Amino acid sequence: MTLDYDIIVIGGGHAGCEAAAAAARLGSRTLLLTMDMTKMASMSCNPAVGGVAKGQIVREIDALGGEMGRITDRTAVQFRMLNMSKGAAMWSPRAQCDKTRFSEEWRHTLENIPNLYIWQDAATELLFEETGQIPHETKNGEAETPAPDDNKSISEKEIIDKNSCWDEMQRAGKHLRIRGVRSRMGVEFSCRAVVLTAGTFLDGMMHCGAAHAEGGRAGDAASHGITSCLQQIGFETGRMKTGTPARLDARTIHFEILEPQYGDEKPSKFSFSPETEPVKDQMPCYLVYTTPEVHAILRTGFDRSPLFNGTIHGIGPRYCPSIEDKLRTFADKEQHQLFLEPEGRSTNEYYLNGFSSSLPWEVQWEALHKIRGFEDLHIYRPGYAIEYDYFPPTQLEHSLETKLVSGLFFAGQVNGTTGYEEAAAQGLMAGINAHRKLKGEEPIVLKRDEAYIGVLIDDLVTKGVDEPYRMFTSRAEYRIRLRQDNADMRLTPLGHKIGLISEERYAHFEQKKSNVESLVAFARETSVKAAEISDYLKSIGSEPLTQGRKLYDILMRNNVTFESLEKVLPKLHRFIESHRIDAEAIEEAEIQIKYKGYIEREKFIAEKLHRLENIRIPLDFDFFSMNSLTIEARQKLNRIRPKTIGQASRIPGVSPADVNVLLIKFGR
Ligand SMILES: Cc1cc2nc3c(=O)[nH]c(=O)nc-3n(C[C@H](O)[C@H](O)[C@H](O)COP(=O)(O)OP(=O)(O)OC[C@H]3O[C@@H](n4cnc5c(N)ncnc54)[C@H](O)[C@@H]3O)c2cc1C
Repeated sequence: MTLDYDIIVIGGGHAGCEAAAAAARLGSRTLLLTMDMTKMASMSCNPAVGGVAKGQIVREIDALGGEMGRITDRTAVQFRMLNMSKGAAMWSPRAQCDKTRFSEEWRHTLENIPNLYIWQDAATELLFEETGQIPHETKNGEAETPAPDDNKSISEKEIIDKNSCWDEMQRAGKHLRIRGVRSRMGVEFSCRAVVLTAGTFLDGMMHCGAAHAEGGRAGDAASHGITSCLQQIGFETGRMKTGTPARLDARTIHFEILEPQYGDEKPSKFSFSPETEPVKDQMPCYLVYTTPEVHAILRTGFDRSPLFNGTIHGIGPRYCPSIEDKLRTFADKEQHQLFLEPEGRSTNEYYLNGFSSSLPWEVQWEALHKIRGFEDLHIYRPGYAIEYDYFPPTQLEHSLETKLVSGLFFAGQVNGTTGYEEAAAQGLMAGINAHRKLKGEEPIVLKRDEAYIGVLIDDLVTKGVDEPYRMFTSRAEYRIRLRQDNADMRLTPLGHKIGLISEERYAHFEQKKSNVESLVAFARETSVKAAEISDYLKSIGSEPLTQGRKLYDILMRNNVTFESLEKVLPKLHRFIESHRIDAEAIEEAEIQIKYKGYIEREKFIAEKLHRLENIRIPLDFDFFSMNSLTIEARQKLNRIRPKTIGQASRIPGVSPADVNVLLIKFGR
């Protein structure tokens, strides 16, 4: 047992688990300090992973070498690819998971990662030291490399050898660096980096009608001390809120009269790794509906709703409203659709998606009994809302390191986001970058045209948040590039380069890539005679060929797929069989062919905009010295301190005219 670590991750939620796994796998001696190790990556709200835009994020996490995709595959009870009637950019995987097994799988995974240690306790204080005490700083400001000290841990020696983070800290004008964490049990751990992922727990306060109780979520204590500790050294904080619906006892639901919603007939999966399999024995979800009678009962509790009577001050997610919010906003609507989702295979508990509420429990109870199928309902737990502290994320660099304290990273809900996937993505990047910082390596910053994760982090640190941030496809300018199917093509080479993707997995990826390329090349080179395909084209209502065409051109038509062509073109079938090209590679090749024009256009626009990303703004530039910028732009630029003109152009309040001024100063 040692009290000295390279990296300490505070919190074993979705962000913390990914951060700890990544940092340890990359080689940092890592401590995961969490309040309850039986609740690793606990699903505080719905028992599901993925969905529109979120599913793409999970595929990206997996492609980079994170865990969420694999654990979801191993614990899924239902899988659906959403939006299949729309273009490929919108296809989004979503899985219902066995909530308990999800958490158990995470715990099992974490407990078996070398370099990773777990300590169950609450962090109550972060420990800092002045950077003025840097031992190797000389009077003239130049760094000198001190003699190696054999008592120091390897990573500390590496830091001093490379001088990197100390230099960077000086350039960035940081005066503090993290040196450790103190816990509720009075243990003082030392470390060189901390990733804070305390989720909804910081000074958490739960509300159900007039009843209020401190807590990080139902059944868990709140976390005190961290917020005030950070406020004291100058961090800004705010309050946000979120809510959850009642959980129901399946034995008291009349499923026989409800409309089932089944998973996909041929379910796919999240992970690109061959280690996992698609879900078997899928469980259905069910649709239920509210009625005017249900609404009338809910309205009787509005005066006691902490949302409406001023008790809750935190800002809630607009797009994930409580049932009482929906009744207010859509007062004329006679019914709202709800989804009954199983919480697992070995429990009777069901989650009622769409009925999040903080109304008094007895109002929730009475209203639920009026829903068709719920006449004899028993509730395991009522819905409630929770308010918690967060840190406006404009206080972060793109690496997720705080601007104020060297070596301190934030990830997950503490940055004002909501959702397991958003949290896990930040955790993964913070874990990677904390490790790289200690190794003296450049942080990994994904660009907006490389990954939804890049969009997420750039939005957070550049624009900030004014409500809990969740990912939507509309937030991404390069949706056709950022598809779920090609996340491995975009990110697995990077995951391999930084050391998170094993050689075996990389070989699997390279095989897929080569299969896709050879299939696309085959389609480009192979001619098809009109007679070979006329019956097939007629059968799908497509114009017959008047002369021979390349297979590639035929595939660009609507409704024409490799799967259907394989049945009518023996040469295609032989090629696919002899090269052992699987369904995943076939789908990828088909999307590349069908969307070629759109993909190239996005690539062209992205490359043009990269020029702005490459024009750097000096770290210590005084924006107030530029009178030609608007006052608003000067204030915003000074606060966010963008590193490039591209980043500056995305800050709300910085106009195209301001960007031109910056271009004249720093660019061409
Ligand atoms: C009531 C409720 C409703 C929600 N509703 C939704 C929703 O509708 N949609 C949605 O997308 N998301 C919802 N969420 C949010 C979702 O749960 C989070 O987005 C997600 O869990 C965030 O992951 P995280 O890792 O940042 O934090 P969390 O999952 O909250 O994990 C935080 C972890 O940190 C640990 N911890 C906290 N403080 C300390 C400390 N001082 N020392 C040691 N360990 C500590 C905790 O024990 C926990 O393990 C809801 C959450 C709650 C509680």
